[in-house]
Amino acid sequence: MTGQFSADRRQDRPEGGVTGHPAGPAGGARPGVARLAGMRITVPAGGVGAARFLRGLKSAAPDAEITVIGNTGDDIILFGLHVSPDLDTVMYTLGGGIDEEQGWGRDGDTYTVLAELAAYGAGPDWFGLGDRDIATHLHRTSMLGAGLPLSAATRVLCERWQPGVRLLPMSDDRVETQVILAGQDGRTVHFQEWWVRLHAEVPAAGFVFAGAEDAAPAPGALEAIGQADVVLFPPSNPVVSVGTILAVPGIAEAIRAKTVVGVSPIIGGAPVRGMADKCLAAIGVEASAAGVAAHYGPALLDGWLVDERDKAAVDAPELAGVAVRAVPLYMTDLPATAAIARAALDLAAELAA
Ligand code: GDP
Ligand code: CA
Repeated sequence: MTGQFSADRRQDRPEGGVTGHPAGPAGGARPGVARLAGMRITVPAGGVGAARFLRGLKSAAPDAEITVIGNTGDDIILFGLHVSPDLDTVMYTLGGGIDEEQGWGRDGDTYTVLAELAAYGAGPDWFGLGDRDIATHLHRTSMLGAGLPLSAATRVLCERWQPGVRLLPMSDDRVETQVILAGQDGRTVHFQEWWVRLHAEVPAAGFVFAGAEDAAPAPGALEAIGQADVVLFPPSNPVVSVGTILAVPGIAEAIRAKTVVGVSPIIGGAPVRGMADKCLAAIGVEASAAGVAAHYGPALLDGWLVDERDKAAVDAPELAGVAVRAVPLYMTDLPATAAIARAALDLAAELAA
């Protein structure tokens, strides 16, 4: 709980007690937005789901100071290049350089370099790396090679993209998400090999966040959480995106002290896209809006948004202690996504009051 959140809210909304959003004239002053000026919002984020949500959040709270703590457990070295898929997805999406259709990678990209590598028989051939995207990885890798930590390299890349948020990796230390394959004597593969090459079709017996125990939060991450008026969990994969970030020592503890509102990535018992259900199954969590919230647990989550289809979760006994609200949760376009972000901020305001 934070005093600043409720203080801001009282100051800017003299009527008080209003949690709905007056539908102001398009483009006109919106009381629901004015109160957000100077608000600090911190978001632990994966890739595509998070990036789309963040676009809506920026639109809903244009004057807020948003810090994104990005998952780097999916990072992988390919052809000697350090690839940070989730950081790049957030950076390109918010910076206007994303391939909108794919949801990841650069818009208008070509694949000349990858084709040339394939002509050498150089692998792997299952990870898409466009030519424009490769420039990002080259630049990142050369900065890391010169001794810059990942957080500094990310800052430099963001100088070009101006994502409008402060983008931090969860850690400057190497953490690698690995998948324990079921029934293969404990054989593990890099997360990307399971997700991209195997399409998560080989059942997973669990996940290992190799290196997490000894990793430190990136500079500024704990401060961003500590100073936040609210922490929002985007509709990211709860296991291998948000779960990985929470595995970095200190981060979960810091988040627990804040007002935390999450957005369910599961609607009607299935992920909207991707294979989050496979990840949840591997750790024995039901793929439902209530199941994911119960997995995070009431010690971490204060509020949880579910889709209207899942409104039964509002009264789910396993979610006692979490304020659950049912609202439309499909991020179909920017206005719909901004409405989701606004609902999350409203619920946070209500909880902090
Ligand atoms: P990441 O975890 O942020 O890297 O992104 P993914 O692309 O893997 O997606 C994470 C989650 O976002 C998946 O579990 C999807 O179900 C969820 N998701 C995708 N689109 C939507 C949407 O429109 N609404 C909601 N609520 N969740 C979505
Ligand atoms: Ca991811």
